[in-house]
Amino acid sequence: LWGQASDELRKTVGKTNHSTWIAPLEIVALNDGIAALEAPTKFMCDWVSRNYGEPILRALRNAGAPVERVTISLGAGRAPVAEPAATPARKAHRPAEDQDLPGAPLDARFTFDSFVVGKPNELAHAAARRVAEGGPVTFNPLFLYGGVGLGKTHLMHAIAHELSAQHSELRVLYLSAEQFMYRFVQALRDRQIMDFKELFRSVDVLMVDDVQFIAGKDSTQEEFFHTFNALVDQGKQIVISADRAPGEIKDLEERIRSRLQCGLVVDLHPTDYELRLGILQTKAEAYRASYPGLVLANGVLEFLAHRITTNVRVLEGALTRLFAFASLVGREITLDLAQECLADILRASDRRVTIEEIQRKVAEHYNVRLSDMIGPKRLRTIARPRQVAMYLSKHLTTRSLPEIGRRFGGRDHTTIMHGIRKIDELMATDSQLAEDIGLLRRLMES
Ligand code: ADP
Ligand code: MG
Repeated sequence: LWGQASDELRKTVGKTNHSTWIAPLEIVALNDGIAALEAPTKFMCDWVSRNYGEPILRALRNAGAPVERVTISLGAGRAPVAEPAATPARKAHRPAEDQDLPGAPLDARFTFDSFVVGKPNELAHAAARRVAEGGPVTFNPLFLYGGVGLGKTHLMHAIAHELSAQHSELRVLYLSAEQFMYRFVQALRDRQIMDFKELFRSVDVLMVDDVQFIAGKDSTQEEFFHTFNALVDQGKQIVISADRAPGEIKDLEERIRSRLQCGLVVDLHPTDYELRLGILQTKAEAYRASYPGLVLANGVLEFLAHRITTNVRVLEGALTRLFAFASLVGREITLDLAQECLADILRASDRRVTIEEIQRKVAEHYNVRLSDMIGPKRLRTIARPRQVAMYLSKHLTTRSLPEIGRRFGGRDHTTIMHGIRKIDELMATDSQLAEDIGLLRRLMES
């Protein structure tokens, strides 16, 4: 019976996940509607019940067992999780749960095939590809950073998929920094810290998503640092993502910061028009298959790529809604329909920041007079905020340098360029300034 359920699970969770998480389980009792399973480590018990509880229940039922509940407890299990270093690892670890898709270990859609490459992400993509080749480690860690929805998680999942397809002998562990902390705290509480260390030190590729999360969490940082060093020392590949550069993560220990910087640091830039259009075309192509007969008028995708410039997730959401809506009402997807059905999204992304607004917010932040922003004073206490405002005007609006110059009391475009450069330079070393700018940006972009 368990054999049958296990076979079915192999299909539903995938071969690699199956051999890592399901095969080591042993069924020890099946009565009163309870299926009692045993796993060899505490970590596995938790992971399996959190991520595979439902699928296991379903598979058992499909195999004809009258099961109401599945319990997983610590026992002998069938095989040790960490194999002795001498024998080549046969199993790939693929524990991964995505917050967006509880219970789905890795998002099957996040592959290299579905990742559209453009100028803003080509370097990140190339680096991810290199790691996914599974060859000798050339840079360690690979540190991917960029704003929300630019494809960091997608690339990490793609690496995991590719490695498990081509190098199933490698043990790949993907998780978010939050899950890392959760596991760590749990291990401390359950006095399973040795298991924890053993597990994390026995992988070949460790990927930790959204690492900014551990900033300020002292003991988790500490443990992360040791895990990191142990793996690097063994020549194991590490991939990290964060929403900002290592230098900009506040409350991160200096030694961790410098460790993170010593591999390859690549950023995913905000999307440009071509990339957005490319992504829309790819997704629309996929939708055509699921909504046969639906007509997509010319110009609709171009319109969306122009108008929705925030993150890719919003862009995808818009397209999903558009196709669903059109098929429900049985209409062709035209510009009119798009405008009608996406009014809220379009309105939200229409909110453009103005230079005046930037000047006002920056003046407020630095407690200087608005009139001084555009005035001639050269005092540093005023010149610096003015340069910050120039910098933000360049990055948050589509105004040209001469135009920005005009709004700053008729300054020359070279003065504006100088101001922007100055801020760029300072931000590299002045973390307070970088932080101020990050804050102002978020204030105005939201
Ligand atoms: P991040 O982790 O950087 O916040 P995600 O990787 O979760 O962003 O991406 C958000 C969504 O946008 C996902 O559905 C992802 O598939 C999609 N996406 C982002 N970049 C691309 C791209 N270049 N090609 C295709 N889809 C993308
Ligand atoms: Mg992400």
